[in-house]
Amino acid sequence: MKKHNFSAGPCILPQEVFEKAAQAVLNFNNSGLSILEISHRDKAFVAVMEDARALALELLGLTGKGYQALFLQGGASMEFLRIPYNLMKIDGKAAYLDTGTWANGAIKEAKAFGETIVVASSKPENYNHIPKEYSIPSDANYFHCTSNNTIFGTQMKSFPETNVPMVCDMSSDIFSRTLDFSKFDLIYAGAQKNMGPAGVTLIVVKEEILGKTGRTIPNIMNYQQHIEKESMYNTPAVFAVYTSLLTMQWLKNLGGIPAIEKRNEAKAQLLYNEIDRNPLFKGTTVKEDRSNMNATFLLNDEAHKEVFDSMWKAAGISGINGHRSVGGYRASMYNALPIESVQVLVDVMKELENKI
Ligand code: PLP
Repeated sequence: MKKHNFSAGPCILPQEVFEKAAQAVLNFNNSGLSILEISHRDKAFVAVMEDARALALELLGLTGKGYQALFLQGGASMEFLRIPYNLMKIDGKAAYLDTGTWANGAIKEAKAFGETIVVASSKPENYNHIPKEYSIPSDANYFHCTSNNTIFGTQMKSFPETNVPMVCDMSSDIFSRTLDFSKFDLIYAGAQKNMGPAGVTLIVVKEEILGKTGRTIPNIMNYQQHIEKESMYNTPAVFAVYTSLLTMQWLKNLGGIPAIEKRNEAKAQLLYNEIDRNPLFKGTTVKEDRSNMNATFLLNDEAHKEVFDSMWKAAGISGINGHRSVGGYRASMYNALPIESVQVLVDVMKELENKI
């Protein structure tokens, strides 16, 4: 039986994408070669990379608006460092919003690099909300935020108005909701939640913000270099890029981001309604900042843990244990998770209530 996979990643993809990817491992594009063995310079793969770069921009509504899409290796964590390398001027500074573990990871890398101002932090409240009151210094070289905090289950519902370039880590909610993506100058996302296997990161950058730091940037760290080499400066993560393309094509056929957003809202509403209704459970974040991707919740009485855990396991649910820094449960509802899986979880929560 296929499990109801609520894992925070990697990597939750539609069944048809897994099937097409599996077929490509055996015989890619009827070439008689596996996607794992063809050259990345082969015409067929060059076309995959071109299509993936173009489709990422198309889905985000950024085609023809001065943006470039790249598929690079090193995970989102590599971008924590590439960003200051490419955007922080010599003797410049950057502004960061601290909303969780990953935002903090980005801040640490930037601090090692140059002056880094944390404009606000929800750390004292164990990151249970998104700070709203802060100002961004107008002389910062850029402002960095994390749209969805995978571990703590919060999501930015609005973004500040600022005159400095806005950089956003969208690793755990890329392609999940409509936003005016042209407000952002650089968006990045590790593939392994909503897009494809671990091993590739999507970077969407407005080209005009590059080349202004006055510093020499090593090629592998340099976005401009990767743009000039059409995301093939070094060997790309061929399989991860191909699978990401399949997922983006699935999303486009579904009706793009507006269509998946409706599904994601319905799933999140179904689960949060039950968390709020059922006296055995409580959410861990403030309601207005709740993530539609990662719902974090606790049992009011830990004494019910053993029974609840055995019930959801018996229902074929996997991956809902909370991160150690929050405890309790985290139900990740990425694009590919069907609402039927959320209904199974909600039914188990109701069953527990009836049992006790
Ligand atoms: N940013 C966010 C929001 C994440 O959820 C994660 C991982 O889960 C990361 C960054 C780190 O990504 P990676 O492991 O690809 O470096």
